[in-house]
Amino acid sequence: MPSTTLTIVVLGSGTSTGIPVVGCRCAVCRSRDTRNKRTRCSALLTYAGHNLLIDTSTDLRQQALREDIRHIDAVLYTHYHADHVHGIDDLRGFNRPGAEPIPLYADPATLASLRRNFSYIFDHDQPPGHVPRLSLHPLEGPLTLFDLEIIPIPLHHGTQMTTGYRCGPVAYLTDCNGIPDESLLLLENLELLILDGLRFRSHPTHFNIPEAVAIAQSIGAKQTLLTHLSHDVDHPCHDAELPEDINLAYDSQRFSFTVSLKTSSESNHEN
Ligand SMILES: [Zn+2]
Ligand SMILES: [Zn+2]
Ligand SMILES: [Zn+2]
Repeated sequence: MPSTTLTIVVLGSGTSTGIPVVGCRCAVCRSRDTRNKRTRCSALLTYAGHNLLIDTSTDLRQQALREDIRHIDAVLYTHYHADHVHGIDDLRGFNRPGAEPIPLYADPATLASLRRNFSYIFDHDQPPGHVPRLSLHPLEGPLTLFDLEIIPIPLHHGTQMTTGYRCGPVAYLTDCNGIPDESLLLLENLELLILDGLRFRSHPTHFNIPEAVAIAQSIGAKQTLLTHLSHDVDHPCHDAELPEDINLAYDSQRFSFTVSLKTSSESNHEN
């Protein structure tokens, strides 16, 4: 089986406001530590010359410039909340003349929300070049994109469901406060788990840090990073208090792994 290097980049580690929070003068929002500067939650998967974006965060433009992202081959959405979606118009910069629309993969509720809230993109009455050219694809179980298998992981986010993603030894689970038993079965033998861990106090739709630590320890990945962090979390202070194999994520963090690719090009990607 051929293999390649998969790199995951933390594009954004912040909660929906971003950190610093506009108008806030707390110690974390005024901190000079770059790990306390958090753009909205997103990640990039890079392998064999392909870039898969997880969510189009409100800060996509800034993240793309910072990480020198020059092309996007597909987008995997976790859910439809604004902080994970509202950079969608910045995908326009990644459309190439004559190339296919960029495929977006999401659950049916997220696809419906994208169509409704961004009808100017999807109504096809706009002059070319003024709107991003995107195609919508429903997630229907595991998919293969450019020979890499991607496994969607259903998660609870309050009363909604969101989608986490596993690629080889890496899983990315943001915006969740519960993991169904069937999903836990998909999270065995991980090298890296990136998991929602909003803050220390409880929250109705996000794991707090004590809850995230407990579930991370039961999943048992070699390393876990907590993401979607609020301004209650001070990186240098609180990272040092976490168990040895659990850390706080920060923007621009990256990790690489060897992954197996499918031998034949049986991609769900409609090129
Ligand atoms: Zn969020
Ligand atoms: Zn603050
Ligand atoms: Zn959310």
